[in-house]
Amino acid sequence: MNETRGWETAQSRLVDALRRRGAAGDAVLGVLARVPRDVFVGEEQRHRAFEDEALPIAGGQTISQPAVVAMMTEALAVRPEHHVLEIGTGSGYQTAVLAELASEVVSVERKPELAEHARRVLAYLGYRNARVEVGDGSLGWPDAAPYDSILVTAASPAVPVHLLEQLKPGGRLVLPVGGRDDQELIVVTRDAQGNVTERSLGPVRFVPLIGAQGWPE
Ligand code: SAM
Repeated sequence: MNETRGWETAQSRLVDALRRRGAAGDAVLGVLARVPRDVFVGEEQRHRAFEDEALPIAGGQTISQPAVVAMMTEALAVRPEHHVLEIGTGSGYQTAVLAELASEVVSVERKPELAEHARRVLAYLGYRNARVEVGDGSLGWPDAAPYDSILVTAASPAVPVHLLEQLKPGGRLVLPVGGRDDQELIVVTRDAQGNVTERSLGPVRFVPLIGAQGWPE
């Protein structure tokens, strides 16, 4: 986008605060300084787009807090050649962040109206390497598997087995796991032999992953 949006100062203030807190490294923070979060939220939330807060979007869902986006993206260790799967497109903001770092992003959203809105915003901003699909992402997206990295931005009761199956050896899966209200952010790593290890990055709160391998509606 060439025109001045008027939020540049607020955006760099937010990114500076995230840098001081060590929320992520330079590459991820550079992306957060570029992707215009204000474009992904509704008019009524635009003045809050660069506060470090989760904000409401359509369909009773949320756009994640920037510090959490920074932490999850850093934990995913995306490289330029990576083929990435995201579950829970929501506004499409995290999709854009991933598209800045990866070769290709497939993002799955269960709510068609959110998927359509995210597609329009991503196209408007010129992201040609991200596509949004409608479906139950708790089952992954087998048509484009396997993936180098998988990010889930909704809370799952356990690590969905289909997602593990769609992860390449050496790949990473980052997701909130736990109860419907409170979860731990888990990084699952699959080594070249297929062995799986898990570590927690601490407590988070996400809306539920609704689906066959998630929570009932
Ligand atoms: N990453 C998003 C962003 O940057 O705006 C925020 C995602 S929001 C916290 C979680 C999203 O997951 C919601 O849009 C919700 O509809 C979606 N969701 C929940 N269960 C899902 C499922 N089984 N498959 C795909 N999307 C799902």
